Amino acid sequence: MFASPLRLVTAIVAGLLAALACWPLLTAIVEYQNRQRMFGLLSDTAQAAAQITTDTRQQLIALSRHLDLPRLPGGCPAQLHDTLQQHVLHLHGVRALVRVENNAITCSSASTTLTGTHLGHPTATRPGGVRSWHNVAIRPASKTPFLILESQQLGALLLPAEQFALIGDARIGMAIYEAGQSMDTSFHSVGVHQRWLPPPLANGEGQDGFTLRSIDPETGTLLLHHQPGSSQIRVLTTLARNQVDRDSQAEIHRLLPLLLLPGLAAGLLVLVLWQPRNTSSRELERALSGEGLFLLYQPVIDLNTDQIIGAEALLRWRNRDGKLLTPDLFIPMVESMGMAARLTEQVCQIVSHDLPDMLACVPDFRIGINISAQELSDMRLAHRMSQLRATLGLRPDQLVVELTESSLVQSELALPVIEAMRNDGIQIAIDDFGTGYCSLSYLATIPFDILKIDRAFVSAYGTDAVIGAIAEHVVTLCQAMQVNCLAEGIENQEQAQRFKQLGVQMAQGYYYAPPLTPTDLLALLRRPPV
Ligand code: C2E
Ligand code: CA
Ligand code: CA
Repeated sequence: MFASPLRLVTAIVAGLLAALACWPLLTAIVEYQNRQRMFGLLSDTAQAAAQITTDTRQQLIALSRHLDLPRLPGGCPAQLHDTLQQHVLHLHGVRALVRVENNAITCSSASTTLTGTHLGHPTATRPGGVRSWHNVAIRPASKTPFLILESQQLGALLLPAEQFALIGDARIGMAIYEAGQSMDTSFHSVGVHQRWLPPPLANGEGQDGFTLRSIDPETGTLLLHHQPGSSQIRVLTTLARNQVDRDSQAEIHRLLPLLLLPGLAAGLLVLVLWQPRNTSSRELERALSGEGLFLLYQPVIDLNTDQIIGAEALLRWRNRDGKLLTPDLFIPMVESMGMAARLTEQVCQIVSHDLPDMLACVPDFRIGINISAQELSDMRLAHRMSQLRATLGLRPDQLVVELTESSLVQSELALPVIEAMRNDGIQIAIDDFGTGYCSLSYLATIPFDILKIDRAFVSAYGTDAVIGAIAEHVVTLCQAMQVNCLAEGIENQEQAQRFKQLGVQMAQGYYYAPPLTPTDLLALLRRPPV
């Protein structure tokens, strides 16, 4: 299959091209899927942040009422520190509970370093008396700012950007704001642009909550605005383009081996599709020059004497792969290329080489040569046969030309060629008689000498009533037309006996001998009669 290096190289190139062609498709699919996955991540983060902010507000209002800090002495009494530590454990997402007096932290559930921190003026005051400080940089070294909510001196420290910033490998930017609020009064992490607030308008915005996905045209950053249906809080989550691209690239590299599949498929397709046409036609061209062609000879038996009186030449072709091909595999192809005459030319050359030894054993030896239909319209066939007879010094009736019934359909073209051969004394045999599915009218116009009953009728004779009866009628026809009859495909003694009794003159078949090499045929001819 891989005999031709050119085919192999073409298949590899086709495979590479197919893989390359699929590259943009794979990239587009992976990028799309990755973007969808990242938007999912942003949406989960925004929902969680909104939920924690809302919950914390409500819990803060309830807890501040319960603790009622303004009632206590100022500063950080020992009991207050413990109380704050106890309560902070129950507040999900809250880093520390603090006491805020005169915009400064005076007590904290966490480290004492927080105590004394001045917060400045609150960024916003919400309904219900909750005040908030955004972007409070308590730890100067930290890039992620705090959000502090406060109700009646009780403050909760939230670190939303840090809490949600790293999900998996992605660094998410975040802003928490309310409808109509600007960047100045909203909480936001580093890298969030003013122009991303408020969200692009959408149907239903501000009514039942919404989740909006968009991509910043300037930077390619993924933006997701989320507002839960139950609150006024909005959360913007963002993811920089290089983060998305980096993930996509990693995924593409992981999927690269997948490109082998279309590559392999294209390569195999080339190998399979290119195989029959180009290789065969090039190889056939070699065969037509004689390379790998040889003849086997199937003996023809005289049924009166049971002696070999001749043989039919049957072509074989051993191609470059060493495969032995029978004629049904290559003759139709040669015919479709209009090259049948060149094949016959080769047959004549091989016969000229093989036959002298056989003639030395049996001087009357007859040789049958098969001819394709398309050669019958060309007078050069008659010349070629005449030449072969002369070369071998054959008597006229020693050369038999076998023509199939179907090749006689266009009898007006075939007739002059057949007549020319017959005038030269060459014998004409009608091959495969009964299988040509054509009108028998040619029997009246075409002169011929032998009818070969096809082996389908021979094997059915005596077994199938209808088909078997045909063999008998063909024999009667031969007698009426005074031509010789040859039974093909005799495979057992019973068949041989039946056709002998019917009065058939000649026979061929595995019962007597299969097609033989010249050496085997010579051995048979030289065997003394038993
Ligand atoms: P065909 O002329 O009818 O040749 C007889 C075929 O029957 C041969 O097949 C032979 O091997 C096979 N055969 C002989 N005895 C028996 C038997 O007892 N039982 C069975 N089952 N088969 C038997 P092969 O050699 O494969 O040839 C097939 C056909 O190819 C031939 O049919 C002939 O039409 C064509 N052919 C062969 N050589 C040539 C050639 O040189 N030129 C052209 N144009 N056609 C050829
Ligand atoms: Ca034949
Ligand atoms: Ca035949």
